[in-house]
Amino acid sequence: MDYELSDAHKTLQAEIGKFCRGEIGPGAALLDEAPREEAAARMKANMEKLARTGYLELALGDDPLGKCVAGEELARACPATFLAAMSSATAFGRAVKRFGTDGQREIHLPPLAAGERIGAFACTEAEAGSDLGGAATTAEKREGLWVLNGEKDLVTNAPLADAFLILAWTERNAGMEGGMTLFLVDRSAEGIRIGPAVETMGLRGALTSAIRMENCAVGEDAVLGSAAGNGYGQVRLIMQEVNLALAAMSVGIGMACMEESTRHAKAKKAFGKPIGLFEGVGAKLAIMFTFNDLGRMIICRAAWAMAQGEPESAVLVSCAKLFTSEAAGKIASLAMQVHGGHGYLKGTAVERLYRDARFAEIAWGTSEMQRAFIAKDSLDRFKAA
Ligand SMILES: Cc1cc2nc3c(=O)[nH]c(=O)nc-3n(C[C@H](O)[C@H](O)[C@H](O)COP(=O)(O)OP(=O)(O)OC[C@H]3O[C@@H](n4cnc5c(N)ncnc54)[C@H](O)[C@@H]3O)c2cc1C
Repeated sequence: MDYELSDAHKTLQAEIGKFCRGEIGPGAALLDEAPREEAAARMKANMEKLARTGYLELALGDDPLGKCVAGEELARACPATFLAAMSSATAFGRAVKRFGTDGQREIHLPPLAAGERIGAFACTEAEAGSDLGGAATTAEKREGLWVLNGEKDLVTNAPLADAFLILAWTERNAGMEGGMTLFLVDRSAEGIRIGPAVETMGLRGALTSAIRMENCAVGEDAVLGSAAGNGYGQVRLIMQEVNLALAAMSVGIGMACMEESTRHAKAKKAFGKPIGLFEGVGAKLAIMFTFNDLGRMIICRAAWAMAQGEPESAVLVSCAKLFTSEAAGKIASLAMQVHGGHGYLKGTAVERLYRDARFAEIAWGTSEMQRAFIAKDSLDRFKAA
């Protein structure tokens, strides 16, 4: 067993890390505070910068470990930029790459990798989050067109996206496995309305809104991969990639918290010595380090299994998302404690990271849903016993 990253991954880590610290990190606080319009312009500029480094091309590619290594560095510098890039390149882009037709790939992927177009992935609705079967959005075949009606909410990138993947019922009687379809819909399509950006607690630079479809008619070629009825299976597979990415994001946030905390623990003095020398503070730094390192290890294992096409990768990804997202929440809370009252102030990095860290426990499969999936896997695995 070799715990070392390959030379290529070490180079990637160093280069993306340097770029993110220099070009993305310094704007993270502004992105968080900016009025929504300004945040949209800043995020578009960040996407173009990421495209120039090859980050988006990497995110669209087939190297799970490389994506985690680079993703951790980006999230460490700016979690909101990570989320916007992930929603465009992983959720939207990887779905098009894996399941789309040649024509769909040709239209969407090159401009996405170049940062010229932004994608968004829309599954969630008011009554359909953990339970996507509760979705009310439908697509009905009328005179050779698919007509979409319904409303999706909490769609990351919606305020700036050029294209959407939208999950809709096409045949309720066929159940979720055969009755749901993903549609590729352009922002300019008639009958699609993009709601205003909602105010989120954290990750505020990654603009999020609802989208509404009112008799939104699209051609047959809007069905992802051309055959209707495969949407739910496609969503489940893409969710694995998204969850691995969110695990890397959580470790990136954890690393940023640790960086801020160690710096503060050395600089801030109380009772005549740096606070880091007090056991109560040092113990917090030790927990942060341990959680981050354990998180990175399970991510590497899940990424490796995914790259090998191991069926076990699904449960390992779930474990990675569950552990790292909850660890990030604890680490961010410890970081705030190390900073004392000054960490509680608006505008400090730990206050922003504390808000950002909370997201991954909820989105794209809550901790409760991850536990349920892992438990089911264990019950199936140990059936004979
Ligand atoms: C900032 C932000 C960005 C987002 N971006 C996107 C996006 O781009 N695209 C998209 O499609 N969605 C997006 N989402 C939605 C996100 O994926 C959902 O919020 C998430 O899946 C949870 O769904 P819900 O909010 O409907 O909560 P619910 O499913 O209603 O869950 C509420 C609570 O009930 C629990 N619960 C539900 N069912 C069970 C069960 N069977 N067993 C145990 N507990 C259960 C949950 O764990 C949770 O604690 C985003 C959300 C946020 C906050």
